[in-house]
Amino acid sequence: HHDDEIGMLVRSYNRNQQMSQRHLTEEHDLLTALDNHQFAIWLQPQVNMQTREVVSAEVLLRMKQPDGSWTLPDDLIPRIENCGLIFTIGNWVLEESCRVLARWQSQGITMPLCVNISAHQLLHEEMGSSLLELLARYRIQPGMLILEVTESHRIDDPKKAVSVLRPLRKAGVRIALDDFGMGYASLRHLHHLKALPVDALKLDKSFVDGLPEDHAMAGVIIGMAKTLGLKLVAEGIENQAQCDWLLKEGVTVAQGYLFSRALTLKEFDAQYLSATHQ
Ligand code: C2E
Ligand code: CA
Ligand code: CA
Ligand code: CA
Repeated sequence: HHDDEIGMLVRSYNRNQQMSQRHLTEEHDLLTALDNHQFAIWLQPQVNMQTREVVSAEVLLRMKQPDGSWTLPDDLIPRIENCGLIFTIGNWVLEESCRVLARWQSQGITMPLCVNISAHQLLHEEMGSSLLELLARYRIQPGMLILEVTESHRIDDPKKAVSVLRPLRKAGVRIALDDFGMGYASLRHLHHLKALPVDALKLDKSFVDGLPEDHAMAGVIIGMAKTLGLKLVAEGIENQAQCDWLLKEGVTVAQGYLFSRALTLKEFDAQYLSATHQ
């Protein structure tokens, strides 16, 4: 019996060793990739569906693959989270975004950027101060940076989230809850979220996919945004019927393949910001 327990302990010790070894290799590989410029940020336009004008853009992380393509493997963000690099890589994304905003500002272009921030990243103790430092260093004008908080249902300490978000919001950062409506185990979570200082909700693609026929969830979330006085941005619009239904419900800003896929910085500038298109 005693031997069993020792055996179990040894096995669990070995498992932990293997796991931390895997994390170390993964951490090393990801940091090397970052050093070797194998990460990039791409931009997906957010458009006014009535005028088709671009009003802002979402920053999406891409990684160069062995075949030369730039994609975001489904497991990349979870892998980054698991080996503890989400704060480091997330800050790189934020700094690249500020760099773009500063360049646009110097060219007289006013185009806000939405950056994804995982709940875990948001609750990192240095998140607030490091972002405030970036905003100051790049002299970012108020309202130009929007944080899309992903996996917000995993915010188990709303008080802490509020203490991070308040000063950021004071500094002109706007806050949106991403994938709103996904993964909420109970209404209690929604109640917590009501306490967060946020400006907008993002209607997840999974609620847009079935439009216009299957509109129950989309209707609820649009109703909540109205009740709470929040802006709403819809994502994943692929056809005109979805666009029409959303417009009818009063949603005007959206992103999706119907308008554009994510573009490289160069492509985005050329298509939406070059003089001939202004
Ligand atoms: P998300 O925030 O829900 O981002 C929207 C995803 O939907 C993006 O996938 C985008 O390329 C894709 N998409 C947009 N429009 C359409 C459409 O019309 N049809 C279809 N089929 N797809 C569309 P992507 O770039 O693969 O990103 C996946 C997720 O990874 C994002 O989901 C976001 O949660 C996360 N992510 C991306 N970049 C970052 C980042 O820098 N930091 C963090 N923490 N998460 C990120
Ligand atoms: Ca997002
Ligand atoms: Ca998401
Ligand atoms: Ca989504």
